[in-house]
Amino acid sequence: MEVTKTLDRFKALLYQLNDLRTASSVLGWDQETYMPPKGVEARSRQIATLARMGHELFTSPEMGELIQNLEDTGLPQWDPDSDEARLVRLVRYYYDKQTKVPGDWVQAFSKLTSEARVVWREARARADFNLFRPYLERIVDMVREYANFFAPYVHIYDPLLDNYERGMKTAQVRALFQRVRERQPRLLQRILERPQVDNAFLHRYYDPQKQRELIQRMVAHIGFDLERGRIDLSTHPFTTSFSVNDVRFTIRIKENDLSEVLSGGLHEMGHALYEQGVDPKYDGLPFGHGVSLGVHESQSRLWENLVGRSRAFWAYFFPVVQRVFPENLKDITPEDFYRGLNRVEPSFIRVEADEVTYNLHIILRFELEIALLTDELQVADLPAAWNEKMKAYLGVTPPDDAKGVLQDIHWSQGSFGYFPTYALGNLLSAQIWRAMARDLGNLDDFMRKGEFQPLLGWLQERIYRHGNKFEPQEIVQMATGETIQADPYLDYLEAKYGDIYGL
Ligand SMILES: [Zn+2]
Repeated sequence: MEVTKTLDRFKALLYQLNDLRTASSVLGWDQETYMPPKGVEARSRQIATLARMGHELFTSPEMGELIQNLEDTGLPQWDPDSDEARLVRLVRYYYDKQTKVPGDWVQAFSKLTSEARVVWREARARADFNLFRPYLERIVDMVREYANFFAPYVHIYDPLLDNYERGMKTAQVRALFQRVRERQPRLLQRILERPQVDNAFLHRYYDPQKQRELIQRMVAHIGFDLERGRIDLSTHPFTTSFSVNDVRFTIRIKENDLSEVLSGGLHEMGHALYEQGVDPKYDGLPFGHGVSLGVHESQSRLWENLVGRSRAFWAYFFPVVQRVFPENLKDITPEDFYRGLNRVEPSFIRVEADEVTYNLHIILRFELEIALLTDELQVADLPAAWNEKMKAYLGVTPPDDAKGVLQDIHWSQGSFGYFPTYALGNLLSAQIWRAMARDLGNLDDFMRKGEFQPLLGWLQERIYRHGNKFEPQEIVQMATGETIQADPYLDYLEAKYGDIYGL
């Protein structure tokens, strides 16, 4: 009886916290989609107020006592894998994360990074790293301080990585990336020696309204529920969830690049399918969303690439696209379309990278972050180190720092440890795909017929419905029967691009 009452109160606080968090997400979504430019000042204040209220509620003495109480009275009697036990352990983890960091540090860091973001934007516009340099130096110092609130650790990068990929260790990422470095640059090199694939037809004029209707139709066909979700336009595509019954994503449309809406749309749809697939009983609790950035990215990548850049997918969907844009595509075959969407080309910019080059952009950032934090590299030497690695991994040298070291927002926000999750997502996407094929048979056969329910159903059953209840690496183990691996992705790349480029 006592435990039940404590648990009820504990959950009531968690629901309140979730309401504050999702209200803030609605404000953030609106800011990126419909808010007029001059609303920004008031909006920042509104979001900051909700964040402060959430922080106060979560770190309140009552919350601490409730967790302690449930650990003493609940955990000894509950099945360790029950929702109750897992919930208490998860909230304890988040609670320790927040309370170990002094309020003074949080305030100073928030002030520093909000200034740094403004300066970074200007530095990038002017391609002038020196403007941003003093801010980045201070950020690296403060990130080191942050890691030390979680000492002892094996590697200073471990506590940072943990913020985005719970439980993941630097040594694991290093081993995975080492394997990628052994195989992926070599594949790229061989592709570059072959005749290039033509994708000029993707750059004809495509009516934006028709593009929008097309992607909406495609994602609805695949399984995104428009009664429980929306699609809008924004400068930077993203996905956000206010509840399992209200999941939104955005797309960006370029009138002279059809691949933008297709790849971006299917990518965000992957994130959104995951959020819509969480068991409704978890809605409003810390279980009610995807488990980690890496696992989330595995789903956006799986739908964007393994599905949306496959020959079988376009066997079904190319005629649909061709009917929408008959003039543009009258001289194009499904095979041309498939190959055009898979053109490989090293670029300076991470977000424009194809499947064969993407991980290399990430490994470069991972190595530089570690070198900065361990003092092997000074911020002043960062642009040169960046360009050197670009040359080594991708064979290209950025013409200036805007297209090099200044291109990403992450460091200006203090987000160290974030980048690896993009590559982990890539690796996982192929590993999960392989496990799915073991269970379902030839996945191409489904896609060629436009049948996506078997794929979506498998992912829902093995991954989506669990939300954030288990640890990310437990989810990987449960879904695929093994720990995270690099080889399935590298095998997939070599087979696919070996065929396209005739290697
Ligand atoms: Zn993503």
